[in-house]
Amino acid sequence: MKCRLCGSENLYLFYQQGNNNQFDFYRCRSCNLVNYDLQGGIDQKKYTDTFVDPSFHFHKQYKGQEKTFEFISRHIPQPGGLLDIGCGNGSLLLIARDHGWKVTGMELSNFYANELGRRYGIKVITANFLDYFPSPEEKYDLVTLRHVLEHLPDPISAMQRISSLLREGGIALLEFPNIDGAEARFRRFLAKTRLHRRNYKEDYFPGHCHEFSEKPFRLLCDMTGFRVILWETYSSKTILNGLNRLMKTGSKARALIQKRSAPV
Ligand SMILES: [Zn+2]
Repeated sequence: MKCRLCGSENLYLFYQQGNNNQFDFYRCRSCNLVNYDLQGGIDQKKYTDTFVDPSFHFHKQYKGQEKTFEFISRHIPQPGGLLDIGCGNGSLLLIARDHGWKVTGMELSNFYANELGRRYGIKVITANFLDYFPSPEEKYDLVTLRHVLEHLPDPISAMQRISSLLREGGIALLEFPNIDGAEARFRRFLAKTRLHRRNYKEDYFPGHCHEFSEKPFRLLCDMTGFRVILWETYSSKTILNGLNRLMKTGSKARALIQKRSAPV
């Protein structure tokens, strides 16, 4: 098996999932990316679930979206054109619009597109961004992709699609799990020492094709013409959030990256 990011064959078994340890995750010694062995099968429904929030109403999801927007306005004070890929119920778009952004969403589901248009007059493109080829005039200042990257078998082409949606010098905000976060480390420790065994459902299949951390994410950006402006980690629940941020050991990562103006 080869690393799907850097192509190295120097991988080692990092951890396994499933009640019979039948799902293998290999870590690349060269770039540190964790590659799930896709031959074990993947839960594609989970993949669409990240695009489609089952409830339309604002609830617990809203708080996360507020934090995301706080982060955006802290680092990009000047509003512009925003595209939120996988916009779900549109909370982020509504908050951003209230703060002067010109907002567009992208969703797989017609339902969300129609509801957001009808109720709030927000434009939502119904498409899978991996198959979406924008016209030369369709360029955004900011593209957001939250908790989608890890579900995609080909992160390189995903980043190229994001790049095609951005103007020169445009910015993308990505959020995804941090495999080197303290929580993930602790869970792996419990599993390894058999202190705690997770019980998997009968029909369980992994939903993530890859697990990123800072090093492979920076490489991915380098390979696809992006510059990392800011990398930070966060946790949504732990009371140690402040410490985790400081130590960069939060369970999730948030990165701000900029499209380079000249092709690399
Ligand atoms: Zn690699």
